[in-house]
Amino acid sequence: MNLLVAGLVLAALMPVGPLPEASPDSASPPSVCILPLGKYDRSLLLPAVRGVKAVYSLPVRVLEKQSLPKSAWYAPRGRYRAEKLLAFLDEEAPADCTAMIGFTSVDISTTKGKSKDWGIFGLGQVGGKSCVVSTYRLGRNTSDKRKVTIRTIKVVNHELGHVLGLLHCPTPKCMMNDAEGKISTVDNETGLLCDLCRKEIEERHEVKLPPMSEVDWNTLLKDD
Ligand SMILES: [Zn+2]
Ligand SMILES: [Zn+2]
Repeated sequence: MNLLVAGLVLAALMPVGPLPEASPDSASPPSVCILPLGKYDRSLLLPAVRGVKAVYSLPVRVLEKQSLPKSAWYAPRGRYRAEKLLAFLDEEAPADCTAMIGFTSVDISTTKGKSKDWGIFGLGQVGGKSCVVSTYRLGRNTSDKRKVTIRTIKVVNHELGHVLGLLHCPTPKCMMNDAEGKISTVDNETGLLCDLCRKEIEERHEVKLPPMSEVDWNTLLKDD
């Protein structure tokens, strides 16, 4: 399996060979499931669910929390290997979940170039079934909860974008920009897909994404 190496803090795992076609039953739109894994921040989960619904207009189901799999534990650094979490999520996915998002606040890592174990925000299998998001690093340079929540929504939607078939995108401020190791890249993104990315999802999955010129953060962040 190749890794997309151009900066992996928002990471993408690439399939070997051409991108798989959308599943044969793609007549029905993808159904997204979020699985809380081990320790996670409940106050960030609901905004993340709202964020997926707002940007992709796809059904989202929150699954019952599961423990982190021992198979993903990386003892030398005391954290979890993201690609092993993806394998776990692939296996755990209920039949009606075509896209799985693992959601955790523990530190996760993967291999980046010469760096054997590199801490990341998230990892998504391009055109695959699963992605994983960790909020562990999303509080960097801020104590503002609103900012951390917005970052969480952006990273979840970015990793889901990989699962839905998107690669990293060079369009300025597109949600699929490669963060290249910087939280500032996440902060500078609009939280929306650019027209090209949006079109690709719509064609690939035969869905219509809600038209939006900006994200209504106040609605996504409201308390209830
Ligand atoms: Zn990415
Ligand atoms: Zn784009």
